[in-house]
Order: sequence, then C-alpha cells, then structure tokens
Amino acid sequence: MEKPPYYVNSHAHCFTINHVPDNFTKTLTWFSWLLRIKWIKRKKIIRWLIVTLNKKWILALISRALPAFTRSLPRLMNFAENFDVDAQKKMIQGLQAFYPDKTKLVFLTMDMEFMAAGKPLKNFHHQLDELAECKRDPALKDIIYPFVFADPRRDKITEIVRARLEDQQAPFAGIKIYPALGYYPFDERLRDTYQYALDHNTPVLTHCIKGVVYYRGKKTDHTDYMVHPITKKTLPFRRPVDFTASFTHPYNYECLLNYNILKNYWKEPIDLKNLKICLGHFGGEDEWLKYMQDAWLLDRDFNIPEAECLELFKNEWYDKPPTRKSKGLKAYSWFSVIREMIRKYDNVYADISYTLCEPRILPLLKALLESPDRISKRILFGTDYFVVSKAGAEREMSLYVRGYLGDRLWNKIAYENPNEFLNL
Ligand SMILES: [Zn+2]
Repeated sequence: MEKPPYYVNSHAHCFTINHVPDNFTKTLTWFSWLLRIKWIKRKKIIRWLIVTLNKKWILALISRALPAFTRSLPRLMNFAENFDVDAQKKMIQGLQAFYPDKTKLVFLTMDMEFMAAGKPLKNFHHQLDELAECKRDPALKDIIYPFVFADPRRDKITEIVRARLEDQQAPFAGIKIYPALGYYPFDERLRDTYQYALDHNTPVLTHCIKGVVYYRGKKTDHTDYMVHPITKKTLPFRRPVDFTASFTHPYNYECLLNYNILKNYWKEPIDLKNLKICLGHFGGEDEWLKYMQDAWLLDRDFNIPEAECLELFKNEWYDKPPTRKSKGLKAYSWFSVIREMIRKYDNVYADISYTLCEPRILPLLKALLESPDRISKRILFGTDYFVVSKAGAEREMSLYVRGYLGDRLWNKIAYENPNEFLNL
C-alpha cells in the first residue's frame, strides 16, 4: 500500500486563554467567581487550585455533587497549563510536534462573546487576524486550515465569513458553528452563510456532543426556550445547563437539511440537502455506547422513509425517565440519528474527535469503515486538541486508533475522507 503524502487532523483548536470569556466557569459551580480567566492568568494560587482539583481522587470525590464542574476541570487544567501562551502560533507548534512533518491541521476558531459569560481579553476579530497571520507564514501555509466561526447573533456574520474565506493571502478553509452557545443550527440569520457555503462547496463543521461549553444565561426566563421551535414539543428541561442538549441535538440538522421541514419555519427557505457539513464528535462516546448496549434500537429503524422521519422524532427524542405509572422511554441514540443522516444526505460527515478517548467504540468504528456503505467515506479523524485532550495523550490516542484500524482504514479517516471534505 502506498503511503499517503500527508495525514490530516480534521478537528483541533489553537485559540489561547486570551480568547476565552472571563466568566467562562459561570454556572458550573458556586465558586465560579474564583476561577475567572483573568485570575487563572495572573494568580499562581488559582492555577494551583485547578491542578489540585484535577487530582484523580478529588475528581472522584466531587463528581457526584458537582458533575458539570467536574467535567469542565480537565479543560480548566489546559487553560491553567497554557496560561502564559499568548500566541496561537505556539499552540499550533505544540500540536505539530506530535505528528509527522507534513500533517495538515484543521483549526476551528471560537467566538464565545455571546455565551453570556463576559468578554475575552482579546476579541474575536483579533483571534481571526492572528490566525490569518499564521496562515500567511510560508512554513504554515500548507499545514494549517483555519475555519471561521459563524454566530448568528454577530452583526454582518456572512460578510465576516466571506471575507475570511476569500482572503487571497490567508484563505480560511471552512466555517465553524457551535449551537450549544445558545442558538439552533437552523437559525435563519445564518441563511446567507449557508447559501454561500452551498454555492462554494465550503465545508461547515459543527459541534455535536453534550459538553461543558454552553450558553451560561438563564434560558428559562423566556418561555419560548421551553418549546422546540420546529417540533413544538415542550422540552423536558428546567435548568439552563440542560438546554445545551436541545441546541446540540443531531435532529436539528435534519431540520436544517430537510427542505420539507425547513420551508415551514424559514421565511425564505433554501434547499440545503447538499450542504457539506461535519457533525463534530459524532454525538459523543456515551451515545455510541448507548447504541451498542441497548437492544431496544432495532436495525430496521434505519432507512426510515422521509415522510416518517419527522414523525419518529415527534415521538420521543429525549429519554423519558421512568415514573410510578410508566416504564419510561429511551430516545434514539444520537449515533443512530447521525448515521441515518449520513445515509440520507450526500455530504454529511462526522468526526471522531474526543469520542475516541473511549477505546470501547473502536470495534464499531472499524465496522463502519469496513462497510461498503457511504459511511466509510464520511468519517474523519480529529482529536479536539488542546481543549479536552489530556496532556501527552495526543500522540498516544492517534497511535492507538491507527494501530487498531490498520493502515488501510487509517488512511481513510486521516487522508482520503478529509481530502474530500476539505476540497484538497
Ligand atoms: Zn472541538
């Protein structure tokens, strides 16, 4: 087998602590006020506190009382470790050091100014300018592939996106969205951005996993937040933290790509079925495990006819916990929803960043990549560097996956499929 000229990591980040909003830990715990980004940067004692909280036995101790906070601790640890890194270039070089020389790296920018967590030290445009500067560097020109973030709440978002994608000296390679920050992916304010992406075959990458970066505002103050705008189902949530799942749920992409659904919601609908979009993290490792372990999801539920598709999710798209009167009901795993969309639409991709921290998913991943189905051409390798990767695990994780899959399948996720996704 011929060795590919390079590999691609399709999901990584290089923004620095300067681009994180000051109140990032807001709502995660009652002592969030202590963990302001400014203080992590300036005070050694706060960094010491974060390192201490990250000790295994302490994590185990506090995980029950403070689950969301505990899950965010490895991330805070990464911020604490990189507190003095002021240049994205340093982050890039940090990731490069783990891979063979010519490895191409997709860097996803983040606009966290609308997540109700305050302002970052350096604003979004600064982040884009700085990364564009790196892209202009001849040493990095063919190495880094930046994605420009699109938040519908930012003024003139399509113009911002377009200017970056069309920059001759430092072209960005795609668009990043992150609905957990407080919007639905089918927000009509993104209409022109999607239209542009569709016309230019520009890849869009979204975040599709229940995580700890989400809108920190009190959504429950608004009654509309309790109802899904398209299904009109009342969401089974009360706390702001839970709404991340509602914005992030993969069914929202069916709403976006299915014209029959979208036309009832947008004033000027467009048919986005050919949009090239990657669902980052493939739903998350817990949803993969749910698919593998729960017998209730029959395979005949795949390839659901389009007409029934919406009906299916009107039924139950969130777990219903058991009550005294009923047994409860489990929703379809996000893994199966995404897999179904990959079957249905030509240009839906998914990446396995973060998901691959869980080795139990590897047999299923291998089976998918070996299948004759389109899905084997739609999975991308990524690691989510540096946001959640544990220090030193970057190389370990990639080698573990590569070793398990063998060279032929590894070449698919780290070369063939990303080439297609990134139009290389
Ligand atoms: Zn990510």
